[in-house]
Amino acid sequence: MSAARRRFTNPWPTRPPPGHNNVIRWALAHRFRRSTEPPGGAVAEATPSFSQPRAAADELTVTWVGHSTVLVQIGGLNVLTDPVWADRASPVRFAGPRRRLPPAVELRSLPPIDVVLISHNHYDHLDLDTVRLLAARFPGARWFTPLGVGSRVRRAGARQLEELDWWDRCVAGPVSISCTPAQHSSGRGVVDRNRSLWSGWSMETTAGVRRAVYFAGDTAYCPAFAEIGARLGPFDACLLPIGAYEPRWYMRYVHMTPEEAVRAYEDLCRGNVTESALVPIHWGTFRIADDALDEPPRRLRSAWDAAGFPPRALAMLAHGETRRWSPGSASDTLKHS
Ligand code: ZN
Ligand code: ZN
Repeated sequence: MSAARRRFTNPWPTRPPPGHNNVIRWALAHRFRRSTEPPGGAVAEATPSFSQPRAAADELTVTWVGHSTVLVQIGGLNVLTDPVWADRASPVRFAGPRRRLPPAVELRSLPPIDVVLISHNHYDHLDLDTVRLLAARFPGARWFTPLGVGSRVRRAGARQLEELDWWDRCVAGPVSISCTPAQHSSGRGVVDRNRSLWSGWSMETTAGVRRAVYFAGDTAYCPAFAEIGARLGPFDACLLPIGAYEPRWYMRYVHMTPEEAVRAYEDLCRGNVTESALVPIHWGTFRIADDALDEPPRRLRSAWDAAGFPPRALAMLAHGETRRWSPGSASDTLKHS
């Protein structure tokens, strides 16, 4: 089978999400329910305070731009995850889930971007207009995608691009980048279901003070987290999706609940939960499922408290907020910037 015809699957025991008919029925019902949601006000906002143009090599900052778009400053590099500046997470401009909040950093206010990590090709994670704008503005950026996603990103202008399989590793200057497993699916239309791979990414400095960040991409709860923690941890920050989990009969195969995100965090930390921060993402920006926009953080806090984890390790960022890890601060852990 040629690579172009390949279909990817999740390797551990699971069921694929229910088929198209059920999804269309849910989507129609979802459209109706969405119109009954009270407007706005669910997500706190903050002014970003990342370092311009770059953070020091031994400093780490994480800024939530919105949904799964995060600016990570690590090893002196500026890294963007799943950059989406679009107004809708949709193949068309006139329909589909609309942003509830504008991106917290304007594209023209970004620092020089060195690395862009794409987790998969769903519209709320890969926006080709954004790729075009970023590629034109930062022609020297290196782009990393899982298998099968690269050609589309290249056609949109990305010059230096590498496609990786799960557990493949690349080096971008002072940062080592690994493609990590996830339980999800892919597709932008009706004929390309699972034709390209989905993944998370981990980043780790290769010299000086060790800094490491794990970005889970889009994923259900799965056995991969313990192995990722064992092979690539420990992480200063775990960027985990906590939204878009209802209805469970469908979403359980592709997205985590907040309670499952806490379990995933525990798996990743391998018992050492005081040294690592959970940074929740994939909520509050696009309403792509049935859970209310402000429900994921409330459930996350309850699950966190029930687990007895230290409050300071839950980095519940406001939209646009920056967290900074600086050497020399108390036990070299996160401090509010
Ligand atoms: Zn997705
Ligand atoms: Zn998503």
